[in-house]
Amino acid sequence: MIYNFGLDSPAFTEFVKILSDRQCDYEVIRRDKIVVRLFGQVDDSLRQHLDRISERPGKLVIKHEGEAPRSEEMNLSGKKMIIAGPCAIESEEQIDEIARFLSHLGIRYLRGGAFKPRTNCESFQGLGRTGLRLMADTAARHGMKVVTEMMDRSQLDDVAEHADIIQVGSRNMFNYSLLTALGAVDKPVLLKRGMAATIDEWVHAADYIRRGGNENIILCERGIRTFEPRTRFTLDILAIPLAKRLTGLPVIADVSHAAGDRSLVPPLIRAALAGGADGIMVEVHPDPDQALSDGRQSLTLEGFETLYHELADARLLERSAGMP
Ligand code: PEP
Ligand code: MN
Repeated sequence: MIYNFGLDSPAFTEFVKILSDRQCDYEVIRRDKIVVRLFGQVDDSLRQHLDRISERPGKLVIKHEGEAPRSEEMNLSGKKMIIAGPCAIESEEQIDEIARFLSHLGIRYLRGGAFKPRTNCESFQGLGRTGLRLMADTAARHGMKVVTEMMDRSQLDDVAEHADIIQVGSRNMFNYSLLTALGAVDKPVLLKRGMAATIDEWVHAADYIRRGGNENIILCERGIRTFEPRTRFTLDILAIPLAKRLTGLPVIADVSHAAGDRSLVPPLIRAALAGGADGIMVEVHPDPDQALSDGRQSLTLEGFETLYHELADARLLERSAGMP
């Protein structure tokens, strides 16, 4: 069970006293608010007692049958959220070139990993904290917002300091300690679907964050593993309207990691937007053949620009105010 309290909450003191009196084991995560995670068996009377004291019992994400749709947590005001950038931050020059290009197109969200979840431990692991600083400085220079992945709870303070949106990667969707900790942060969380997660498991993962008191969650469908080896993953288009219906949360689609091949990115973006995605995430690189990760699926900057205009012409997304 997970509860949350304000930082100066008197209810928290009372709550913890009850847990200590009952010799319950628990964990406290303190950041923008306090999250308490309880271990052990909690009987009905204790549960009711704790629920009474808790000032902000987190709402569950899953809606009940017949419940009216919730208002969207993130106010996208009908605009599609476009998140673009490299797979990984590689150097100051690389991220600056990309941010300059994207910001001139009117794109507001810059993606890029500083902590990379690589399948092979010999592969480039990202620039770490140096990468976070580079990304935050570059985004600020170009008036953009940072979307970057947090892989481990130990990175919480660093990532929360530099990111505007904290990404939970596909491999970490089942990391319940990480999800619990993200409840304590007052920043939006982009929760990717696990590559082998059902829609319900994905929605339950969002509940961990929400129960901790962070309601700013954006879901991201990024493809699941199926029996089809010709594509990297299978983008589950139906999961987009379904997850929206089940949670009322915005759902975006990361087309790059599903496609695995840049030539498949344009049709997949069209399909995701036509399927009701509230936005898209796409990997771009000035020189994909030299990229340190995921070059094959990254669009060139010019390729992205052409596609962006085509999507706007087809009214699948609107041109931003900053467009030339
Ligand atoms: C990424 O977006 O950089 C990434 C690693 O994606 P995923 O977690 O979906 O594999
Ligand atoms: Mn990638």
